[in-house]
Amino acid sequence: MSQNISRHSDILVAGGGVIGLACAYYLARAGQSVRIIEQESMGAGASHGNCGLIFVSDLPPLCAPGAIGHELIRTLRGTSPLYIKPRPDLSLAFWLVRFAANCNRRHLNHAIKARDGILRVSGELFSELFAEEDLACDFEHRGVLMAFTDPATMQDYEKTNRLLEPFGRAATFLDRKAVRQTEPALNQRVCGGWHHPADSHLRPELLMAAWTRAAREKGVRIDEGCRLERFDIRKGKVTGALTSTGRFTADQFILATGAWTPAMGRQLGVRIPVQPGKGYSITMDRPAVCPRTPCYLVERNVVVTPWRSGYRLGGTMEFSGFDDRLNERRLNNLETSAALYLKTPLGRRVTERWTGLRPMSVDDLPVIDRTPRLNNLYIATGHGMLGLSTATGTGRLITDMILGRQPPFDPRPFSLKRFG
Ligand SMILES: Cc1cc2nc3c(=O)[nH]c(=O)nc-3n(C[C@H](O)[C@H](O)[C@H](O)COP(=O)(O)OP(=O)(O)OC[C@H]3O[C@@H](n4cnc5c(N)ncnc54)[C@H](O)[C@@H]3O)c2cc1C
Repeated sequence: MSQNISRHSDILVAGGGVIGLACAYYLARAGQSVRIIEQESMGAGASHGNCGLIFVSDLPPLCAPGAIGHELIRTLRGTSPLYIKPRPDLSLAFWLVRFAANCNRRHLNHAIKARDGILRVSGELFSELFAEEDLACDFEHRGVLMAFTDPATMQDYEKTNRLLEPFGRAATFLDRKAVRQTEPALNQRVCGGWHHPADSHLRPELLMAAWTRAAREKGVRIDEGCRLERFDIRKGKVTGALTSTGRFTADQFILATGAWTPAMGRQLGVRIPVQPGKGYSITMDRPAVCPRTPCYLVERNVVVTPWRSGYRLGGTMEFSGFDDRLNERRLNNLETSAALYLKTPLGRRVTERWTGLRPMSVDDLPVIDRTPRLNNLYIATGHGMLGLSTATGTGRLITDMILGRQPPFDPRPFSLKRFG
C-alpha cells in the first residue's frame, strides 16, 4: 500500500531537462506534489552543454524571409553552420517543407510578437528566481555582443535591429574602435558590432544542478534512470505512466522530453512536428585574453560564452536524426571560427567536447499546450535554440494552465492547434 501511495503524485513530469525541471519547480511552489522521471540523469540532454545565454532579445525566428536562400549560398561557400544529412526520412522532409513555408513576412511578425511574450516573462522570472533561490551558476547580466567581420553583414543587421525597436530590445551600434573598447578580447578582423544590453548568461550545467537541488527542497521527487515507455489511457484521460522501473500514476501528466517528444506523441495520436537539431560545444579553461561579454560571431553562427569558472564555444545545426556521435569537423569548425574573431580563441585545457539535440519546431515557436483529446496531458517542447531562455516562462505557463489561472502571456501562438 505505502508503495502505491509513493508511486502517485498530483503531477508527473517526463523529461528532466530545463523545461521539465522548470514545470516541476513552479508546480511544486504552487503546492502540488510533483515527480520527474528522467531516462538518464537530470540535465543529460540539450540542457547540459548549451551556450547558456538568456537571450531575451532574440526575437526573430530562424524561419525568416530569405533564410533558405541565404543558407544555400552559405552552404555552397562552405561557411554554413547548417547541415542536413541526406537520408530517406519522411518526417524530416515534411518538417523541411513546413519550415520553408513559414519563411515569410507574416510569420516573422507573428513569431516576433509571440517570442517577445514568452521571453519577456521568462527574463522577469529568472530575475525573481535568482533573488529567491541560492543558485550558484555563474549568472551575469552583461548583454550579448553581436560581432562582425564583414561590413555588409554588419550593416544588414540594422534591418533586424529595427524589428526589435518596438519591443524595446534594440541593440547599440559599435564601430571598429568602440567594439574593441567594449570587448578587448576581439581581434583586428572584427569591423564592428551591435550590443544587446538586455541579455544575460549563466553556466547551464551548474544551473541544472542547483535548480534540481532547489526543486528537491520544494518536495519534487526525481527518478533518474527511469524511461517512460508509454501511457495508460482510459476514457480520454491518461491514468498511468508505464516506465522502465514500473508504473506511476498522477492526476496530470507533462511530456517534456525535448527532441524525443514526437515519438511519444505518435503513440498518443498527437502530431508534434519537432526534429532534433544537433549542436556542438567545446568547454575549456578561460583563455589568456578572455571575453568579458558573451559574443555571437555572426558570420559563423558561433557563440562564445565566458564564465568565472570557464569558457565555451558552441553552435552548428545539424539535421541527422538521433545521432549523438561527435563530428570532429564540426568541433574543429567551432575553434577555427573563434580564431577569426578573438585574440586568444582557445583556453589551455579542454574540459568537455559535447553534442546535444535541440527540439526544433517547424515554426521556431515552442509547443506548450494541453493535448486536445487527453485532457490531463500537457506537452512542453519545441524550444529550439531558446529552451534555456524560455524555461521559466514555460514552467509558469504550464503551472497556470493546470491550476486554471490567468496565463502570464498570450499562450495561443504555442498551441497544438496550429499544426491542424
Ligand atoms: C549547442 C547548443 C547551444 C545552445 N545554446 C542555447 C542558449 O545559449 N540559450 C538557450 O536558451 N538555449 C540554447 N540551446 C537550446 C537549449 O539547450 C534547448 O532548447 C533546451 O535545453 C531544451 O530543453 P528540454 O528540457 O526541452 O530538452 P532536453 O534538455 O533535451 O531534456 C529532455 C530530457 O528528456 C529525457 N527523455 C527523453 N525521452 C525520455 C523518456 N522516454 N523517458 C524519460 N526521459 C526521457 C532526456 O534524457 C532529456 O534529459 C542550445 C542548444 C545547443 C545544442
